[in-house]
Amino acid sequence: MRVITAKAAGMCFGVRDALAALDGVDQPGSVAIYGELVHNDIVLHQLELRGFQQLPETGREELPTAAQIVITAHGISDNRRQQLVAAGKSLIDTTCPLVARVHRAAQGLAQSGAFVVVIGRAGHVEVEGIVGDLEAFAVVPSVTAVGTYPSQTIGVVCQTTFPVDEAAAIRRQIAACNPAAEIRWVDTICQPTKDRQRALSELLDEVEAVVVVGGSHSHNTRRLVDACRQRGLAAFHVEHAGELDPDWFDDFETIGLTAGTSTLPETLHQVEERLLEIAAELTPAR
Ligand code: SF4
Repeated sequence: MRVITAKAAGMCFGVRDALAALDGVDQPGSVAIYGELVHNDIVLHQLELRGFQQLPETGREELPTAAQIVITAHGISDNRRQQLVAAGKSLIDTTCPLVARVHRAAQGLAQSGAFVVVIGRAGHVEVEGIVGDLEAFAVVPSVTAVGTYPSQTIGVVCQTTFPVDEAAAIRRQIAACNPAAEIRWVDTICQPTKDRQRALSELLDEVEAVVVVGGSHSHNTRRLVDACRQRGLAAFHVEHAGELDPDWFDDFETIGLTAGTSTLPETLHQVEERLLEIAAELTPAR
């Protein structure tokens, strides 16, 4: 069995920089992370061991008690940031610059008079942060959710990790459902996401099945799994090397490997090593 790793896979610079910012915190016990820093249980467990307080993703209306608050790479609305500062909180802001760019785009569109449509998953923390500063908006996760919007000008932005092809289809549907409106589209899908989606698409031409490494509730990891299955290939979603079962690979000659943007490099490396071991065990039997 051969193992081919996608040309772009795993941790993005936004998550890497957020983790690096926390490395520099001397007294983690007095710091609360505002929601999950990343949607990856291995990373969250490491932060817990260091002593960081970790606040739930939901119930953000309540003010955290800690004096120092970490804003995650997913960002928060300016309104919420101002509330935290007004309450005397000191912020360690690890908002990814590519998420901040979506906020600026959405606010710019709203200020120009456009009705803002956010292509993304309602309830996702990044999307909540984007729409938290808007008065009128729609969040659209799929083509079937597109409606008719109450404006002659519609501004469209995207959750950073949304699949490029699906976003394009939704954008076409917005135009079809609102034929008289001017559509202002700002492509805010982040480059690391595009690189990983493109690399996976190329990988799928070469392999029979794919192992996808990432948190079980990581949106972008699940999207990679969906992309494999939509192309008719088996996809095995694991969080770490210990979950790999050699029996899964009995029928395959070539396996692909990719990982979500919150997957630690060492986790991806361990999965790759274990797959190579499994490949060595299977090959003599063929
Ligand atoms: S996925 Fe993209 S937007 Fe999100 S943290 Fe990584 S680089 Fe930033």
